[in-house]
Amino acid sequence: MEHSIYHVLLFGPPGAGKSTQAEYLMAHWNVAAISTGKLLREQIASGTPIGLRVRDVLARGELVDDALMIEILSAWLKDIPRGKGFLLDGFPRTIPQAQALDKILNELARPLSAVIDLRLSVSEAVHRLGGRRICYGNGPDEIIHINDEAAIARCLERGGLLVQRPDDLPNVIVKRLAVYEAETEPLINYYRGRDIVHHVDASGEREQVAARIMTAVEGVEHSHTALV
Ligand code: AMP
Repeated sequence: MEHSIYHVLLFGPPGAGKSTQAEYLMAHWNVAAISTGKLLREQIASGTPIGLRVRDVLARGELVDDALMIEILSAWLKDIPRGKGFLLDGFPRTIPQAQALDKILNELARPLSAVIDLRLSVSEAVHRLGGRRICYGNGPDEIIHINDEAAIARCLERGGLLVQRPDDLPNVIVKRLAVYEAETEPLINYYRGRDIVHHVDASGEREQVAARIMTAVEGVEHSHTALV
């Protein structure tokens, strides 16, 4: 089936499931996707100069400086072949980043198709982030919740290691949620005049949330059973 070319931004507080959704949507729309948080964590894990520069910033739950993020994004966007869409998870996070993105996309003649505003209550975000663990090793990384005993058993059976992100510790969660509210949420207003913002309920199963996003962006009803 032929798909339109989508240029989509995913917004939402920490814990809204941006990266999980980005994985689904990347396959569904055949778009290139970038998670700036994941990219930074990989740089930290590999001990690169960028990783060393940003490690403490991430651990404190603060934002990395705009200049570095804009440089990373701009290089990434320019490499996407024409004919392929893109999905940004975690960028922009500030007004200067949004302005820089507009400038780059203008130069590339690739206007945004949709801005997805994932909505989740603070209590649900805290519940998800506080219980979030990553299963590393012997297979792809898997995000699981400490209440999900079956997933924990599966992880240990495959010889995986359960790890907590340093920025998922309680005091950092509070900081990240505050930073989101102060710096990133106002960006929804930045885009409001363009008629491309869709508010999407991020509660429930990830398949349900993915179906809501697809319905909003494509203007065609999707039911979560159709995703399997
Ligand atoms: P995330 O995985 O999206 O929750 O991002 C994890 C962390 O990476 C954030 O708390 C920030 O420290 C940093 N980060 C990710 N994307 C950006 C961005 N666009 N601007 C500044 N900092 C970012």
